[in-house]
Amino acid sequence: MQSLSAAASETARPLPILQTDGDHAFGIYLHWPFCMAKCPYCDFNSHVRHQPVDQPRFAQSFLREMATLRERTGPRTVTSIFLGGGTPSLMQPQTVGALLDGIAKYWSVADDIEVSLEANPTSVEADRFRGYRAAGVNRVSLGVQALNDRDLKRLGRLHSVAEAKVAIGLAREIFPRLSFDLIYARPDQSIADWNAELREAVALAADHLSLYQLTIEEGTQFYNLWKAGKLTTPDPDHAAALYEETQRVTSELGLPAYEISNHAVKGRESQHNLVYWRYGEYVGIGPGAHGRFRENGARTVTMTEKHPETWVDKVESSGHGIIEEEYLTPEQEGDEFLMMGLRLKEGVDLNRYQKLTGHGLKPERLASLQEQNFLQVLDGNFLRATPDGALLLNTLVAELTA
Ligand code: SF4
Repeated sequence: MQSLSAAASETARPLPILQTDGDHAFGIYLHWPFCMAKCPYCDFNSHVRHQPVDQPRFAQSFLREMATLRERTGPRTVTSIFLGGGTPSLMQPQTVGALLDGIAKYWSVADDIEVSLEANPTSVEADRFRGYRAAGVNRVSLGVQALNDRDLKRLGRLHSVAEAKVAIGLAREIFPRLSFDLIYARPDQSIADWNAELREAVALAADHLSLYQLTIEEGTQFYNLWKAGKLTTPDPDHAAALYEETQRVTSELGLPAYEISNHAVKGRESQHNLVYWRYGEYVGIGPGAHGRFRENGARTVTMTEKHPETWVDKVESSGHGIIEEEYLTPEQEGDEFLMMGLRLKEGVDLNRYQKLTGHGLKPERLASLQEQNFLQVLDGNFLRATPDGALLLNTLVAELTA
């Protein structure tokens, strides 16, 4: 058994380029569900606790759920791990180390494994970066969200731009790979402001950026403000212009989009997220985590209990926190495969669609969507969404598969 810290210590060498293909990739997602405060736009499974979280007890439950899932997946080689949340950088490095060692105990670990951790760029969290690196993390994804203090405040973030820049600098020193997130289409954001911020971000991030449009989700504080007329977001035309500016500037600066919201220098794409988009297999562990892996010849979907303490109780009593699961039909697999893969610039392999569903796409529907300039077929076999089509993926997939 190779330990993860040993595998990760070798990753001062460049990580491999796009190693994961959908048929062989096997990822593990770990969900740490706690945050210091709830951001007003956030609808993720994140919870604030005013007492310290019992990290050793949670870690034990993660390990127990891993053991149960290992029995179901059988021996596999893990190609990527992603610690997401919530805020995984609230975990002590020894908690992260225990979880990563657990994965290496239950499954094999690829020599070139990517191990990502989401972190918030406060100074407290940055102090733990070296510990995470020693535990086996080799890629960090920072929730920077804005590069101006007024907007950070409006977004309810707890860090300043100065703190974010220190965290970025430290992360670049410590981890072989770094990405950070920004939110755009923020209230009052002009094209010129966003252009300048993007340029600064590319200069700081170097090789990977996740750039998300602000969306108002039901159940969030922003939703209530927006409904009450106290929050105005850019109108659809301005939001579309900001999206186009994003594509233009990132392409010009060498970080073109490889997925709707993700931009990278060639070869620096997120290997773990490619597992999702290329329709690979993954196991989801922790409160509210989703998994999709092959079992008994079908693709199984698993979903765990979202509430953290209820999840722990359930794992302690029954060995896992799964509350919903189903086997997908070939048609459902085909729909998901298209939905995920059409997010990617590279598109989807139509032979694989045929393999999953037992049939091809209907030629007349495909031709009609091509004529309307929503889809393109490359080399006779790769289907991809055009820039217009990328904004209408749900509709396109429904049309293609009706
Ligand atoms: S830190 Fe992230 S997960 Fe936590 S509340 Fe804010 S946006 Fe949500």
